[in-house]
Amino acid sequence: MTNDYRFEFRPYERRFLRSLTTNHGRWDIREGIILRLTDESGKIGWGEIAPISWFGSETLEKALDFCRQLSEEITDEIIFSIPDELPACQFGFESAWEMGSRGAGEKNLNSSSVLHSLRYSGLLSSGKAALNQWETLWQQGYRTFKWKIGVDAIADELKIFESLIQTLPASTKLRLDANGGLTYEEANLWLRTCDNLKANSELPLEIEFIEQPLPVEQFQQMLELSTNYETAIALDESVATLGQLAACHQQGWRGVFVIKPGIVGSPSRLRKFCHQHQIDTVFSSVFETAIARLAALKLAAELSQNNRAIGFGIDHFFEQEDTCFQTLWNDL
Ligand code: MG
Repeated sequence: MTNDYRFEFRPYERRFLRSLTTNHGRWDIREGIILRLTDESGKIGWGEIAPISWFGSETLEKALDFCRQLSEEITDEIIFSIPDELPACQFGFESAWEMGSRGAGEKNLNSSSVLHSLRYSGLLSSGKAALNQWETLWQQGYRTFKWKIGVDAIADELKIFESLIQTLPASTKLRLDANGGLTYEEANLWLRTCDNLKANSELPLEIEFIEQPLPVEQFQQMLELSTNYETAIALDESVATLGQLAACHQQGWRGVFVIKPGIVGSPSRLRKFCHQHQIDTVFSSVFETAIARLAALKLAAELSQNNRAIGFGIDHFFEQEDTCFQTLWNDL
């Protein structure tokens, strides 16, 4: 049986309070699309398309083109046959479909114990800013932090790292995210530094992993590094979409996989993959609004195996809780 839905969409813009600087550059405004599916009984499902093209998803323009060419009435078949070149669209439409079809039973999901059991990793800005940032997050309950590296000269970053690990409390877990910005030699230096800290056992905190040390094209080198050092490596940019995730797994990656549900592709196919291969995952944000965030957190709660903190501690990068989807629709 095919169901029909009324399909509507609105583009949105959301400005970062502090711009996000990574090895990919500076990011000031998050743009995306909110969509709404209404079934024949009037049940509504919300979805969000939040692409990051420089990370491996389609561009916002491609996503908008896809939305514009659809008619106002769409079917299940359309939702489940969105091409793999549009992973953020696959996520947005399918999660809206799920919300609409299961919505009634899950109204209280926000307060459900599953979501509350999730632990969050707080994102620290690159450079010295991190030194003044962690404390507020610690007071808010964060015990895992992620610091961006590969932005400034490695000598400077190693110095800041030294101060950071001296000041962070003992039970902290720290992740280092290079966004593919290190050379092979620099990656070795970071991994060696972290291994040495661990070996000296004077380090009161744990370096949980180094994320995406090398560019996507250097998969074999990362595979090699993952066997040469004690410190774990997580792939992020390398596994942006489900196709890449499957390819890296197939080529032997058994380290950590960072999954960004907002751009990875179809949630149902992600579920299938995670159930089939018991991979070590960290679920992570794409700086989405509350709509995609809820759908992503549901997936994280459902599919996280290892109790690793999820990378959704990013609220402090925005001025206020987003209400943009309410202002996009005037009939709410
Ligand atoms: Mg990352």
